[in-house]
Amino acid sequence: MQYDCIIIGTGLSGSIAAYILGKRGFRVALFSSQKNISDSNSSHAQGGIVYRGEGDSPELLFHDIMRAGQICDRKALLDFTIRAPLFVEEFLIRELNVPFDRIDKNFSLALEGGHSMPRILHCCDRTGKIIMTYLAQALEKISNVQLFLQHQALELIKHNDRCVGVWIRKQTSAYAYPFFAPETILATGGVGRLFCHTTNPLPSLGEGIGMAAHIGAELAGLEYVQFHPTALYSSKDRFLISEAMRGAGARLFDVSRQPFMHQYHEQKDLAPRDIVAKAILQQMNRDQTDHVWLSICHQDSAYLRKRFPWIYEQCMQRGFDLTQEDLPVVPAAHYHVGGIRVDSCGCTNIQGLRAAGEVAFSGIHGANRLASTSLLEALYLGVLAAQNIPMEEKIENGLNLSRKKVRRHFSPSIIQTVQNMMWQNVGVKRSKEKLFLAVEQLSFLYEQLPMHDFFVERNFLKTAYLIALAAYSNPKSCGCHFVE
Ligand SMILES: Cc1cc2nc3c(=O)[nH]c(=O)nc-3n(C[C@H](O)[C@H](O)[C@H](O)COP(=O)(O)OP(=O)(O)OC[C@H]3O[C@@H](n4cnc5c(N)ncnc54)[C@H](O)[C@@H]3O)c2cc1C
Repeated sequence: MQYDCIIIGTGLSGSIAAYILGKRGFRVALFSSQKNISDSNSSHAQGGIVYRGEGDSPELLFHDIMRAGQICDRKALLDFTIRAPLFVEEFLIRELNVPFDRIDKNFSLALEGGHSMPRILHCCDRTGKIIMTYLAQALEKISNVQLFLQHQALELIKHNDRCVGVWIRKQTSAYAYPFFAPETILATGGVGRLFCHTTNPLPSLGEGIGMAAHIGAELAGLEYVQFHPTALYSSKDRFLISEAMRGAGARLFDVSRQPFMHQYHEQKDLAPRDIVAKAILQQMNRDQTDHVWLSICHQDSAYLRKRFPWIYEQCMQRGFDLTQEDLPVVPAAHYHVGGIRVDSCGCTNIQGLRAAGEVAFSGIHGANRLASTSLLEALYLGVLAAQNIPMEEKIENGLNLSRKKVRRHFSPSIIQTVQNMMWQNVGVKRSKEKLFLAVEQLSFLYEQLPMHDFFVERNFLKTAYLIALAAYSNPKSCGCHFVE
């Protein structure tokens, strides 16, 4: 099937790109491996999206992001800080009318860790869900965007040194089918699901990185995986407990219900994200426990239910009443800073292939991400990738491919093996020895897959291996990459 553009991923970056290309008259095929358009990291974002504070400027935002990321690409960051907030205004506020919280007529701007002023737009603690609902409704009205849910991308098609399309498998099918377009945008999100503790929902297996690597796309910063200190330790999953809760007075306690953060940092419970994550793991190791406790039940329960309605509801669904009891929490893989290297138009080094959002590495975040800048980056790269695809680009590739059989090589439990290995050896605290072990074992698993067939495991195994290799190859601790 031939389109003008293929987009893989229906999160904020993929959906905004589809929206813009659709309005420009492109015939777009938009794919998600999931059942609903909203099954993505984007819909799970709680805190908000960076906009502009009172007396704010691109310079101030630049310095805040640079302080967190340390090794940011200065040119990419400069463009981002000048242009990205304008996209929030143009697309989210004016065009989609996203109902960000207001006090009287003015936006209610939140302050988050690492920001020098309140500048975060939010919709209570469900910002991602609301943005994505408005965007999905707008997309529905654009008839030349064809949405394929439960369609998994397996491999990019390269022909004459150009990406000309992608092999797609419908969830239940044993076959993959080729889809062609002169431009493909990878918007497949993060890698959290490669780790056994993660805040990320199901699709986040980093498959876009594996696919891009397979056809020779340049990758960068893969070792920089950000771990969030507090995810709810429940039997269902690891639901994110926002840092705003510690901002509102929540405290961390050890197994004997004693505070411990004072032993690790002068800012105690409000120390930077990576320091709190490391401290919690160290404490768990000392006490030989599988979680620590987060306590906010000393606060007024009506206030807590009003301030954190979504977190309250989600904790209740998992059997915890945060207004009455302490919550068991554990650090969890949260955000991937690294990815497919892109320029300011989302272009990779492979002609016809662009990347946007969390799967891309634009250099903006350097070695660590500042809170609430990732939705902004997803919007920014999605918009730029879509705006910069030339209209006249209509290349017939002349390929005539039929369907191909898809196989599964390992038992489904292979994913658990990989997740445990990644958590133990490529997690919050890394060492040369543990990283070497991970590289060795992951490369052994990957090499068992015959290259001539499609295997559902190929992409996530390749991505896990490449992250471990990047972490092993960089002995210098910086940002969220910490080697003992
Ligand atoms: C719990 C949580 C809270 C967060 N809070 C915030 C916040 O407050 N502010 C902020 O700025 N950021 C936040 N983030 C990070 C932010 O949500 C993400 O970085 C951002 O939404 C990524 O958007 P995306 O479009 O790149 O990818 P996603 O939104 O993750 O979308 C990825 C898409 O790719 C599809 N996909 C993946 N692989 C395949 C495949 N092989 N074939 C077909 N489809 C595929 C998925 O189905 C999905 O549709 C949070 C993240 C989480 C998990």
